[in-house]
Amino acid sequence: MTDKKTAIVTGASRGIGKAIALELAGRGIFVIVNYNGSKDAAEAVCEEIKAKGGEAAAYQCDVSDFTACGEFFKEITKTYGRIDILINNAGITKDGLIMRMSEEDFDKVIAVNLKGDFNCIRHASRQMLKQRSGRIVNMASIVGVSGNAGQANYAASKAGIIGLTKSAAKEMASRGITVNAIAPGFIETDITAVLPDEVKESYSKAIPLGRLGKAEDVAKTVAFLASDDAGYITGQVLSVDGGMNM
Ligand code: NAP
Repeated sequence: MTDKKTAIVTGASRGIGKAIALELAGRGIFVIVNYNGSKDAAEAVCEEIKAKGGEAAAYQCDVSDFTACGEFFKEITKTYGRIDILINNAGITKDGLIMRMSEEDFDKVIAVNLKGDFNCIRHASRQMLKQRSGRIVNMASIVGVSGNAGQANYAASKAGIIGLTKSAAKEMASRGITVNAIAPGFIETDITAVLPDEVKESYSKAIPLGRLGKAEDVAKTVAFLASDDAGYITGQVLSVDGGMNM
């Protein structure tokens, strides 16, 4: 049990999820650092949080597995007594043009990015509905709004997250639970590190604020939507993209 607010951040072993975990912990929130395969990295995130005076614990769970998610949320509720904040951040890409995209690559991206969010919302909402309070923030993407050549699976998963977010917001509003999505633009993490320099440069030129985003830019926005200050905001998709989408 903890007397702090409890937040679960999926895919928090690196990138945007790690920045969110650090930001929330810095605001006095107990953070569950979820990962799938990167145990050492997730534990290192917890150590970093603890070294800064915060509290955190690492938990493995493949968010695309409905049953495993059920067990994960049951364990968290039993151990810590509450779930105040759920940040559905875990995500993957398997890019390719539709003509060449395998069925497996389409299904896998939908399973982790979209179904993973459903699984976590489904299992967290039980406790949040009981508490009659909660904050859920889902990580969509600018490409879920605009589409992107070579990312049909990813863009479809992110567009799906927007529909899921608005539906969940409508279902849960009467119980004091807010559900919002963030649509990051181009953020410098492992997901974008694989892109060639000329692609990054062309993205930079298309960003009115003139620079690629940092994981911390997204983390601060997530922390706001997860805070008491955002209590009158639900069902929204907030772009954190340096002005790319306007
Ligand atoms: P990243 O650096 O590749 O990190 C992805 C995280 O997701 C890792 O912690 C990974 O953990 C976890 N993960 C992957 N599959 C998982 C699964 N099945 N179950 C649980 N965790 C899983 O990615 P990122 O760039 O930080 O992106 C984070 C989120 O922001 C994603 O949803 C992404 O789509 C979204 N986003 C990113 C950008 C961008 O420009 N970077 C833009 C728009 C949206 P393991 O290593 O343990 O698997």
